[in-house]
Amino acid sequence: MDDGTSLIQCYSKDAAKDEIQEDFEEPPGILLSLTNLHPRPQEIITPRQTAVVLPFVVRRQSKTSSKTKAFRRKFFPNANDKEWNNWHWQINHRIHTILKLRRFLNLSTEETDALGNLSVKLPLGITPYYMSLISREDPDSPLRRTVVPTVHEFFKTPEEADDPLCEDRQSPVPGLVHRYPDRVLLLAHDFCSTYCRYCTRSRVVGHGRLYPSRNRLEKAIDYIRADTQIRDVLISGGDPLTLSDDRLNWILTKLRQIPHVEIVRIGTKVPAVLPQRITPQLVRMLRRHHPIWMSLHFIHPDECTPEAYRACAMLADAGIPLNSQTVLLAGINDTVDTMTELMHHLLKMRVRPYYLYQCDPISGSSHFRTPVEKGLEIIRGLRGFTSGYAVPTYVIDAPGGGGKIPVMPDYVMGRDSSEWTLRNYEGKTFKYPDPQQRIFPSFAHSSVIHEKVEDVPLK
Ligand code: SF4
Repeated sequence: MDDGTSLIQCYSKDAAKDEIQEDFEEPPGILLSLTNLHPRPQEIITPRQTAVVLPFVVRRQSKTSSKTKAFRRKFFPNANDKEWNNWHWQINHRIHTILKLRRFLNLSTEETDALGNLSVKLPLGITPYYMSLISREDPDSPLRRTVVPTVHEFFKTPEEADDPLCEDRQSPVPGLVHRYPDRVLLLAHDFCSTYCRYCTRSRVVGHGRLYPSRNRLEKAIDYIRADTQIRDVLISGGDPLTLSDDRLNWILTKLRQIPHVEIVRIGTKVPAVLPQRITPQLVRMLRRHHPIWMSLHFIHPDECTPEAYRACAMLADAGIPLNSQTVLLAGINDTVDTMTELMHHLLKMRVRPYYLYQCDPISGSSHFRTPVEKGLEIIRGLRGFTSGYAVPTYVIDAPGGGGKIPVMPDYVMGRDSSEWTLRNYEGKTFKYPDPQQRIFPSFAHSSVIHEKVEDVPLK
């Protein structure tokens, strides 16, 4: 099993303090041969100096951050490594009541008032691991705001709705959404290890009504089997990776038996909130069902811990293409600096930044939603200022069920019949001459070309 020491990258600033650096040569002998191939000018071998050994620095990555270590010591001193790193233990010790929450956080009035009134809303649930990343004192800290409810959840504005994307209307069988002709969304179940307060499916998840029962899932799979247009199935939920390996394997096997299903995608937040779930057994099972793709939900650089790096490395090593989904959240990740840092982490974790979502207008989400202009400002701040790979597509999932619509800053300033006027990332203007439709003489009737061809000696 990979112990995570082979990762050669950085992680969140906090965790970086905990990093151990070691100099070593591995495997022995390689360095000498590299040195001989590329001696550095200042290290030219003299008669007295028979060999030069270049320093070969590998960052040995800590398995956890100092913050998580301190949290464990304080709140779970009796949990050994085996327990803490076991995903079942993490789920069994979730913080899901106000009494438990009080142990870990100094609650604000806005949080306390909300917690007394949660029966009608998305439940509370936070893994001990994710809790270790949350500020104990500051109710406005980014991760805390995404998982601890506040009274703002209970204010519904006129434009908000429980199901703004009209998924229920596009659901032919329970737990299946069919919006686009060639792909479907299969809701595996409604359980998540940690509940995000801005969840688009807060009307469904955590309410214990969507079970991963064989009977329900078979009806959904029968629907997919009957529609030969469906070539792409996205399994989401709730979080499908909180199912057991056996149940997930059963779903994937059934889908793989359908000839017209070309790819299966899994949408999950597990690498961010429960990275312990990514086990060697799980990735061995997943790779049997390729092509499997994954959409990983990350929203802030503080989630990019050694544990998350390791989970993503295991998935990537299993040949699973990883893409990210990030929801733009007011006061949480709505600055160019925060988003750039997150996107850079994702690339280092081998996760391709894919979608930046405008937060959906679900009931009680106004404290999370930013103006659309803020999203455009962030994309403008990324495009051209960092690698193109680090720039996600900013999309609005159209209320009413219109699907995802990309929203782009205006780089096209105008066009006429012969050229386009474009603006680059620095705001400078450039003209591009549009190729015109021209009628070229036919090669077959060009004697000039024939003569030239005959002149070329054949070898
Ligand atoms: S992990 Fe996904 S499905 Fe679960 S609460 Fe968060 S956003 Fe919703």
